[in-house]
Amino acid sequence: MEANSQAERILRKRIRFLLPLPIALFIAIGLAFMATDLLAVKSYSAMIWIGIYETALMLNIFARRKLARKLDRLLAGRCIGCGYDLRATPDRCPECGTIPPKQGKNSN
Ligand SMILES: [Zn+2]
Repeated sequence: MEANSQAERILRKRIRFLLPLPIALFIAIGLAFMATDLLAVKSYSAMIWIGIYETALMLNIFARRKLARKLDRLLAGRCIGCGYDLRATPDRCPECGTIPPKQGKNSN
């Protein structure tokens, strides 16, 4: 019903999907530590797991920020690629050539 509602819904869904991943990874890393304790594995394996967790967490945060920025631009009526104001040229971004998602009313 609202303009851009479909694209907005898709972006919101992706952000929501990414949100619980750090928590799941945190639980996984806890289990990994328990396993290393039980198996008396040398402590450098814990460092590797921490490295994996930190990397995954950073990627997750970057992905969420990127999607949130896209959503902000979409709701503000700007290009989702570069943020250019699309009020004058709603069909195509003159800066980067990105074709914006279909408006709710005009969608096919
Ligand atoms: Zn653009």
